[in-house]
Amino acid sequence: MKKIIVIGAGASGMLAAITAARQGASVTILEGMEKPGKKLLITGSGRCNLTNLRQEITCYRGADSAFISGILRQLPVKDTLAFFRELGLLTVSRDGYVYPVTGQASSVLEVLLLEIRRLGIKLKCTEKVTAIRREDKLLVKTAGWTYEADAVILAAGSKAAPATGSDGSGYSLAKSCGHSLVTPREALVPLAIRESWVKKLSGLRMQASVTLEGHTETGELQWTDTGISGIVVFQLSRYAVCALAKQQEKQISGVPVQLDLLPSVSGEALLSHLQQLQALRDGRSAESLLAGVLAKKAAGPLLQAAGISPSEKAERLDGGALQRLVKVMKQLTLTVSGCRSFEQAQVCQGGVRHTEVDAQTLESKKMPGLYITGELLDVDGICGGYNLQWAWASGFAAGRAAGSQEKMAATKAAGSQEKMAAAKATDRPEREQCCKAADHPERERCCKMADRPADNASERAERSTL
Ligand SMILES: Cc1cc2nc3c(=O)[nH]c(=O)nc-3n(C[C@H](O)[C@H](O)[C@H](O)COP(=O)(O)OP(=O)(O)OC[C@H]3O[C@@H](n4cnc5c(N)ncnc54)[C@H](O)[C@@H]3O)c2cc1C
Repeated sequence: MKKIIVIGAGASGMLAAITAARQGASVTILEGMEKPGKKLLITGSGRCNLTNLRQEITCYRGADSAFISGILRQLPVKDTLAFFRELGLLTVSRDGYVYPVTGQASSVLEVLLLEIRRLGIKLKCTEKVTAIRREDKLLVKTAGWTYEADAVILAAGSKAAPATGSDGSGYSLAKSCGHSLVTPREALVPLAIRESWVKKLSGLRMQASVTLEGHTETGELQWTDTGISGIVVFQLSRYAVCALAKQQEKQISGVPVQLDLLPSVSGEALLSHLQQLQALRDGRSAESLLAGVLAKKAAGPLLQAAGISPSEKAERLDGGALQRLVKVMKQLTLTVSGCRSFEQAQVCQGGVRHTEVDAQTLESKKMPGLYITGELLDVDGICGGYNLQWAWASGFAAGRAAGSQEKMAATKAAGSQEKMAAAKATDRPEREQCCKAADHPERERCCKMADRPADNASERAERSTL
């Protein structure tokens, strides 16, 4: 029976283990943490947005799109949903964003663990992998043990949210197996803003359009004590992180970000509204002009950003002041000076170069028998269930290929793909020829060989690939 070690009991590791075990492989998962699926439990704020019905290649970034879609096609969303339904999980879609019907990420983990138990997969926790080596077999080392395997699936994740176990050791393991990395950086992460006055907005949430490096997102913006956050910011953060990284090389830093804090009202309509209020000449302050337009906490700081004292009488403001105010609300330009750390990042961009793994099976081109899945590869998705869909699909692709019994027989028998090819190219046609030719001197021996059970390496290899 084919022996498979899966490194990491996260989303992609569990999917890979189940897929391989369903094909009859003997599977052991080695998990560094004391419990499996720690990251899964905090996804979607504990509700787990496990996939998204709307799948477009633009929702994924990093590796080239042909590679990404080639893997995603192996487990389309409908199959992901069918897989989980079969495990007993009911799901609900909200505008295409799919969650467990219980509203709890723990339900997703629970059904995966039930299947892992049902299939007899061994799950060993507090078993952190420190090295992978190829000798006759693949050897996987932990602090106290060395495991032998026919195939190893490296599903150790990235270094986003390291407290969940994905501490970046997957990158080191991949490098030790000969892989190179696209530099891992934060993605889906809050951004730091240089202008210190924005601290006064900390805690506020508002609808906004945010434009960064030519990309615009509209949705809920959250102000933090160091800058901006929320899904709109997460979706754009990758671009800021990349731009900042490029700037570092040139020793400059700061990426402009434009904010429209009232996306549902045009600049003209806003100006005319403020002018009408001003014309009432009812003695209200500049701050009161904004009472029905912006949250109270935002009015003062934004007036100051426009060079207007909040206590100034509205009727005393000239046309230029109102225009400046509209500009601050509709086209506020701030400077992104950095991002929060990997601890606060939901996902990493970068990782093992996709060109170094097989585009169908995710088998390493550097170390045959090693497969790499999930966020450890240089693929990341936007918010909305895309990162988990990538984890499920890549786990499925690797688990299916690694668990294939055919492949094991072939690998075992021939020892290498070259030998396999040689066996196919020479042995079989030769034998076919001799069996067909009535006057072939070896005819009798050859025909017997074709019918009897395999008794040598190259023949076993050949039978398993027929
Ligand atoms: C706060 C937060 C919320 C998120 N919400 C969503 C969401 O709602 N929807 C969505 O699609 N995506 C979400 N994501 C992203 C998603 O969770 C990840 O992309 C996905 O879990 C990656 O799966 P993975 O299997 O590659 O890695 P992981 O899930 O990180 O699993 C890797 C596993 O490997 C183990 N490991 C690491 N190194 C070793 C080692 N040396 N030896 C043994 N074990 C090891 C780790 O402990 C871990 O259990 C969220 C992420 C975060 C941090």
